Amino acid sequence: MFVSDLRHFLEMPDDAPGPARKMAEQLGNVVRAATAAEAGTAWVSALPCRRRPGRRSCPGHIAVFRPDLPARIEWRCDSCGDEGVISGWEGTYFDLRAPKRRRSTGTVADIVVPDEVATALRDLQLLDADCERLVYRARAVDDGVVLRADGDELDELLGFVAAEANHEPNRRRQQRLDRAFAVLSDALQTMGS
Ligand SMILES: [Zn+2]
Repeated sequence: MFVSDLRHFLEMPDDAPGPARKMAEQLGNVVRAATAAEAGTAWVSALPCRRRPGRRSCPGHIAVFRPDLPARIEWRCDSCGDEGVISGWEGTYFDLRAPKRRRSTGTVADIVVPDEVATALRDLQLLDADCERLVYRARAVDDGVVLRADGDELDELLGFVAAEANHEPNRRRQQRLDRAFAVLSDALQTMGS
């Protein structure tokens, strides 16, 4: 069981070793996922497990649980069983709890996207809080990742993807963003029809 206080990972120096930075990034993402969705139930996020048992990437995703009374966030890989608890996350940059629950304005759809699209969305730099919540409450399922959104939310997310794709100098990242854009705009069209 990996017990961590997120505050110890927030002020990581620039010359910190790679594994420490990767761990900090993973813990931050776990907090984002756990706070993007409602408290009180355990669910499997789209975050991949970072472990490499037997030198192979673990195929698992990280399940998260945040009790109603915020104190600590529990996480566990659904494949290798790696697990931990995180404290000290409240009020940090990674805390995505909404001040008030946003009311859906239209039909809410479950959109299944490939894992790599979910990864590209997590890498977006310019998301507003609503879109960030949408991206981090994505759930892992057998055939990919489920994004639950209404038309307005999806439209907003598409705007961020397009803006970032336009300014992305790295060709590979740009292709990833273009692919994410195509998948999401298909989904939006299906919702509208
Ligand atoms: Zn694992």
